[in-house]
Amino acid sequence: SIPSPPEAPADAASPPAKKAEDEQAMGLKTKADFLFLEELGEGSYSTVYLGSDRNTHTRFAIKVCSKAQIMREKKIQQIFREKECLQKLSRPESYHPFIVRLYCTFQDNESLYFVLSLASRQDLLGVLKKKKKLTVEEARFTTSEIVAALTHIHAHGIIHRDVKPENLLISQSGHIVLSDFGCAKMLEPTTPEPAPPTPAPSSEAPDGPPRTGRRCSFVGTAHYVSPEVLNNKIIHEGVDYWALGCIVFQLLAGDRPFNDVSEYFIFKRITSLRYEFPADFPDANAKSLIESLLLIDPDDRLGTRAKGGFSGFKEHPFFEGVDWKGLPDSVSPLMA
Ligand code: ATP
Repeated sequence: SIPSPPEAPADAASPPAKKAEDEQAMGLKTKADFLFLEELGEGSYSTVYLGSDRNTHTRFAIKVCSKAQIMREKKIQQIFREKECLQKLSRPESYHPFIVRLYCTFQDNESLYFVLSLASRQDLLGVLKKKKKLTVEEARFTTSEIVAALTHIHAHGIIHRDVKPENLLISQSGHIVLSDFGCAKMLEPTTPEPAPPTPAPSSEAPDGPPRTGRRCSFVGTAHYVSPEVLNNKIIHEGVDYWALGCIVFQLLAGDRPFNDVSEYFIFKRITSLRYEFPADFPDANAKSLIESLLLIDPDDRLGTRAKGGFSGFKEHPFFEGVDWKGLPDSVSPLMA
């Protein structure tokens, strides 16, 4: 039987000096430092466990990736990309409350281990399955947090490329935790690194990512993939905003905008921008937001550099009244 997890002090409750000490100690961890408790979930080449630091009793999600499977499925590049992106986003100066945090990695003969901040089991897909659709207030809150996370990673030169409800975990307190950077891409800056980085924790991100155009083969998930990926065009952060448009639609309509019997027909709908709002779609501002994200030309999409980056969202009427800075400390309507 699985031992019940020890009661851990909340990470945020640690005094700063102790926190710095803990963070330094995290760099030297091995498998023996953790108790592996129950399984939280499975990925294509990994199993994620609830783990507890034997010393501090702090709980984490520990992603265990099988080396044999990584080799067999030729996922070496992917795993290194994931680690690189997570490391970049987990530095104290670039940490963000709505993005999963990597505390340390280690390995043994069989596996690679990623020690991650613990979200609850729930993801946005699970929430949608239960509620069918969100209220406009719930959707505004959720979308604001996704926007905060995406603008933050883009400002740090990272595009996620697989934004979908399954990869938007929900924290114990009902906040968004963007996870799974297995498809992410780090852009080489054409300008110096964005500076100064966002003080943590914060939901603000400097506007506009560094960018290098990249062609890319299809990565991600059929229903959320953007036309430029399907057409093998140069891509940038706009791919994540296309996916965001699909998600906002899904949150409020209860179904995905591009749906069909096979990937082939889904792709045809996407490349010809064929989707329809249901007659009972509840909010005109949300509709306008979706219409400014689901655009064939990625440069036209809200959130991209050409459209004002984060400021573009802040000025959009759907987000009127959102306290962006206060989001991490606000009570999530998803908890009601
Ligand atoms: P893939 O391996 O194909 O990219 P995936 O996103 O399902 O797929 P993982 O990131 O390995 O793979 O996650 C597997 C599952 O483990 C998730 O679906 C989720 O249920 C759980 N999980 C992952 N990270 C966390 C976390 N930080 N906190 C809590 N549960 C998590």
